[in-house]
Amino acid sequence: MANSQFKPHAILFPLPYQGHINPFVNLAIKLASKGFTITFVHFESVHQRLSKSQNSNTNNEIDFFSEARKSGLDIRYTTINDGFPLEFDRYINYVEFWKSLLQDFPARVDDFIGEIMQSEQSMVTFLIADTFFSWPPTIAKKYNIVNVSFFTQPALVYSIGHYPLKESVVEEINYIPGVKSISTKDLMHFLKEGEIKTMQHEVCSMAFQEVKKADFVLINTVQELESETLDDLNKKQPIYAIGPISSFLTKITVSKSLWYESECTKWLESKPLNSVLYVSFGSVSQTNKQVIQEIAHGLVLSEVNFIWVVRENIVKSDGINILPDGFKDEIGDKGLIIPWCDQPLVLSNPAVGGFLTHCGWNSTIESILCSTPMICYPIEFDQPTNKKLVVDDWKIGINLHDGDLIHRDEVAKNIRILMTGTDSLGFKQEIEKLKNVMHKAIEKDGSSERNFDHFVEDLKDKIY
Ligand code: UDP
Repeated sequence: MANSQFKPHAILFPLPYQGHINPFVNLAIKLASKGFTITFVHFESVHQRLSKSQNSNTNNEIDFFSEARKSGLDIRYTTINDGFPLEFDRYINYVEFWKSLLQDFPARVDDFIGEIMQSEQSMVTFLIADTFFSWPPTIAKKYNIVNVSFFTQPALVYSIGHYPLKESVVEEINYIPGVKSISTKDLMHFLKEGEIKTMQHEVCSMAFQEVKKADFVLINTVQELESETLDDLNKKQPIYAIGPISSFLTKITVSKSLWYESECTKWLESKPLNSVLYVSFGSVSQTNKQVIQEIAHGLVLSEVNFIWVVRENIVKSDGINILPDGFKDEIGDKGLIIPWCDQPLVLSNPAVGGFLTHCGWNSTIESILCSTPMICYPIEFDQPTNKKLVVDDWKIGINLHDGDLIHRDEVAKNIRILMTGTDSLGFKQEIEKLKNVMHKAIEKDGSSERNFDHFVEDLKDKIY
């Protein structure tokens, strides 16, 4: 750390979704390793799911950071009640849940942070909350703490959210500073026509508005990968690219998975190098039975080995028997179908040679860190925009299809292109370069480490 006398205390507050929890936990470890005191807050519903995923009972005494503390890190752990019963499904009923995050939750956070401020012996100096919360500016002001926003997605998404889009309908948007040009089909889904009045649009628009009041913004990206966009954003607000913040790079184990992780290593060990396609659409996004069936047939037609994460809530309705009849018998030992796994562990296995992904930002980073080229099938949120980075800008993957409906032949064809086609070597070479950029960024004199030190210096100036 820049100054060994400086021991700031941060409250870390992620959204209760896997793609936000993971980078927040990893950030907590990074900050604590640099000498910070951390009070980490999970929603009670997250605490319960984490407990269940480990097959332990849901007793509230479990402290997921105890291992970290044994390693000498000062991470305290607490939970907040969001006002819904534990059995309320915050994924399926997200409209109701998000509405309450905007309306009722801020008052709860106010009381909750008030209590922490009174009870902590070591003074809390700042808050690091997820950018998608809109309450931090008010709360930080009330308790006189520095407001740091952590954006868990790329700078490109932040930039598009930052600047209002013009109303005229054009196919190509080329007026966003720091963004060369982006097709409207690659925008975040909540900015697209027809979505403008949805709850997701309201929450996201409000968040991008409120984050402008943050004292500092940390982004889980790398300067060299998004330099133009970051340089422009930095003119508006102090923004620090400190990524990649990933489980691969933390040696301390903290339970993060909201679902029980199936074991895949043994199966993978029986497969040749680079022969397995890993298929997963992350933790939240849903599709429909037809898409699942076309993917299933496409996998068979492609003749590659595969691991497929078919999450319990992967389709909106028709939840049971979504795979084609007899599918599991047909694939035999060529495929492994599981409800959830330790994704970084699977991706880093040498047998894995490709990733059919929804392009969640964590998945994208994890894929790059393992030099695993991608087939992109974005569904919503930031995924279409992340796909643009992967396919158009970085050329480390291919696009499966724009829009919902896909055909099995298209799936099989793209899998073959990625895994064995003449371009597959090119994707491998490009992604290897990006992997090196990411690793360099977090070395001692790398850009993310330097940005992190600047953040600490600037924080210190703000506090004293
Ligand atoms: N993940 C996992 N096991 C799985 C599927 C996903 O551990 O079977 C993790 C994955 O490693 C990533 C996170 O869940 O860190 C998903 O985040 P991402 O941003 O990729 O997508 P989201 O779930 O937010 O759409």
